[in-house]
Amino acid sequence: MAASARSARQQQAIDQVETFSAHNYSPLPVVIAEADGATVVDLDGNTYLDCLAAYSAVNFGHQNPRLLAVAEKQLRTLTLTSRAFYSAPFGPFVEALAKMCNKDMVLPMNSGAEAVETAIKTARKWAYEVKGIPDGRAEIIVMDGNFHGRTTTIISFSDDPDARDNFAPFTSGFVSVPYGDAVAVEAAINENTAAVLIEPIQGEAGVGIPTEGFLKAVREITARRGVLMMADEIQSGLGRAGETFACDREGVVPDVYILGKALGGGIMPLSAVVADADILGVFQPGQHGSTFGGNPLACAIGSEVIDMLATGEFQEASRVQGKKLGDAFRALMAKGYLTEVRQAGLWLGLDVEPSLGTARELCYRLLAKGILAKDTHTKTIRFAPPLVITDAQVDEIIAKTTEAFEEAAAQRDAK
Ligand SMILES: *Cc1c(COP(=O)(O)O)cnc(C)c1O
Repeated sequence: MAASARSARQQQAIDQVETFSAHNYSPLPVVIAEADGATVVDLDGNTYLDCLAAYSAVNFGHQNPRLLAVAEKQLRTLTLTSRAFYSAPFGPFVEALAKMCNKDMVLPMNSGAEAVETAIKTARKWAYEVKGIPDGRAEIIVMDGNFHGRTTTIISFSDDPDARDNFAPFTSGFVSVPYGDAVAVEAAINENTAAVLIEPIQGEAGVGIPTEGFLKAVREITARRGVLMMADEIQSGLGRAGETFACDREGVVPDVYILGKALGGGIMPLSAVVADADILGVFQPGQHGSTFGGNPLACAIGSEVIDMLATGEFQEASRVQGKKLGDAFRALMAKGYLTEVRQAGLWLGLDVEPSLGTARELCYRLLAKGILAKDTHTKTIRFAPPLVITDAQVDEIIAKTTEAFEEAAAQRDAK
């Protein structure tokens, strides 16, 4: 099924990228040409199971027929007006999204990083105009190991050297505390604290799941201290963690939802900040915006995504297939191939036993077997296939992954 040797054509496509694209990624050597559901096909016609789903932007599968139909129709009707005028798809989208989040209003943007930036600006404006913090003093508490995007302000509070080095000067006003440590969150709050910005599950850190009760504790502390709780659900939300929001796993409702990735159905970049009117109401005309934010094409797709989430079927599939995959990976851990398996719905972080090689090396083994998965932080492999993955495809992931680990172990033992 999967790649043996790459054709000259596929190698040429890779060389072209390595020559003419900035080297800000290190992709696995496969050139994807088409896709359907959880399957992708490379330039040579080899098929693979997509276990990354574009970092969960493709939660509903490649070429999802419902999303495609809406997108094609909207593409031929109206694609961009800017917010200088009202557009027909905008109203239905913001109403549906506000209602799905059980909040009053929505501020749409495009990329995830823009939505995080918007949330930061919201928290600061709220701090000065509603909470009464002296101008210029607002602080936002963030978590060690966070990933919230790549803008200058956002990398200012990253602790990843790759994200930060040689991008100074940085934006001030952020305080970082250990992820999962509610006592540290409370201790970091002072009279100038505007908000706590938190990933309910840390995706880029390797599917880091906080100890149970942490989100609840942060909710209780922030409510009691008059500080906004802002949940970055860009990757964890919209079904990935087995619920509409990862916060739902602890029954927590943040003050501010930050959404992106799957909101655009893997077709359009679409992100949003969602909150009540006492928070998002701080914005007046001209104070924030985006030319493409809330564009008709993205909004039509976003409305369909919200419709699809309403039945709960994707959240259910995430739990069911995630459990199956998690059980299989925990069996690999029992064999000594993995040192840890973290799982929330159909989102798994596997820590590879170091004697078997790096996570990157294991990803190469998986690639050769037709499984596309992505390493993060040397020892972790992430599995986050589209939520539309079939039972048979999950069986195939399990079989191929088991083979890859058994081969790595056999090679180690032969040394
Ligand atoms: C991907 C991601 C972002 C940034 O989204 P972009 O669309 O890449 O800008 C922000 N926060 C989290 C948690 C993410 O996973």
